[in-house]
Amino acid sequence: MHRDPIPFVDLSAQQKAIDAQLRARIDGVLAHGRYIMGPEVAELETRLADYAGVPHCISVASGTEALLISLMALNLEPGDEVITTPFTFIATVEVIVLLGLTPVFVDVEPDTCNIDASQLEAKISARTRAVIPVSLYGQCADMDEINEIAARHGIAVIEDAAQSFGATYKGRRSCALSRLACTSFFPSKPLGCYGDGGAIFTDDDDLAQASREIRVHGQSARYVHTRIGVGGRMDTLQCAVVLAKLDRFDWEIEQRKTVGSRYRQALDEIGIASVTVRPDRDSVYAQYTIMVDDRDALQQRLTEAGVPTAVHYPTPLNEQPAYKQFGEAGETPQASSLSRRVISLPMHAYLDADTQADIVTRFGEVIA
Ligand SMILES: *Cc1c(COP(=O)(O)O)cnc(C)c1O
Repeated sequence: MHRDPIPFVDLSAQQKAIDAQLRARIDGVLAHGRYIMGPEVAELETRLADYAGVPHCISVASGTEALLISLMALNLEPGDEVITTPFTFIATVEVIVLLGLTPVFVDVEPDTCNIDASQLEAKISARTRAVIPVSLYGQCADMDEINEIAARHGIAVIEDAAQSFGATYKGRRSCALSRLACTSFFPSKPLGCYGDGGAIFTDDDDLAQASREIRVHGQSARYVHTRIGVGGRMDTLQCAVVLAKLDRFDWEIEQRKTVGSRYRQALDEIGIASVTVRPDRDSVYAQYTIMVDDRDALQQRLTEAGVPTAVHYPTPLNEQPAYKQFGEAGETPQASSLSRRVISLPMHAYLDADTQADIVTRFGEVIA
C-alpha cells in the first residue's frame, strides 16, 4: 500500500481543473483594474442570487462579515437576545457579542449536530430578536420548524450557511430558506475563493439595501453616511475566482455526495456512526463527520497512519473562556458530548475511489 500524503482538502486538484477559466477571469480583472467593486462583483451577486433562488445577494468580505452586517441590518439594541447553537464556528456567536447583543444557546440534535428546533421555543424571551441556525457540515437545519416558531414570535431568522451553500432542503436551496442567510467563501468551504469572501442573501428589499449600505461604511450616497457601517466589501479578484469555479460547482457537489455515500456505506459496515442526513434534504459535505468514543486517541493513531483529520468543534462555544459568561454549565449536554466525540475525515470533490478506499482501510486497521 502506498503511503503518499493524503490531503484533507485538495485545492490544487480543483485549481488544475479550472486553470483556464481562472486565468481568464483574473486576467480580465487585471485588464480593467477595478479592484474594488469591479464588474465581477455584480456579476457574481446576480449568479449567486439566481443559483440560490433569492432576489438579493450582497457579497461581503467574509462569512463573519456577512453575519455581522446581517445583524446590523436588523437594527437590534444592546441587550437584545439572539438564539443560536453552541456547536459551531466561533464567528456565529462572536458577531452577536461584538454588537452588544446577548447570545442564548439552544442544544443540538445528537445525530445531525444541528440546532434542536424542538428546544427553541423554551429559550425565547421578551428580548429575543433573532435566531441564527447553523447548517452544520453542509446540511440545513430544520428551517421550516424554526421559521414557523420565529414567525409566531416576530423574530428574524438568519441561516448561517457558511458550510451549506448549494445544499437543498425540501427542494429549495440553502440561503433561500429564511429572511436572511450568510455564506462564506473561505478557501476550504464547498464554494471557496482564494482568500476571504462571503455573501448575504435576502428576499427583503429593505434589508438588502441596508446590507449594501453597511458594507460600505453606512453610505447611502457618496460621503452621505446614513447609518453606522463597516469596510466589508469583497474584492473584485475574489469574486472573479468564485465565478471561475461556478460552472463546475454542481458537478463538485455531486462528487462530494458520492464520496459521502461511499464513506457512509463503508463506515456503517464497521459500526462507525456518521452524522445523519435527513431524507427531506441533502448535504454538500463541507465536512464528513463521524462520532467515536476515545476520539483524541483515534485522531492520534489516524495521524500516524497518514490520514489527516480535523475536529469541528472540540469545545462548545458556551464553554469557551470568553463566552462562558453567556451560558449556564451543563445547559447543552448534546453539544458537550459531541465536542468530545466528533472527528472529520478527508473530504473534497477530487477524492477518488482508490484513495478513499485506502483511507477506509487505514481507518479499519487503526480501530482493529
Ligand atoms: C467558516 C464559517 C464562518 C465564518 O466564515 P469566514 O468566511 O471564515 O469568516 C461562520 N460560520 C460557520 C458555521 C463557518 O463554518
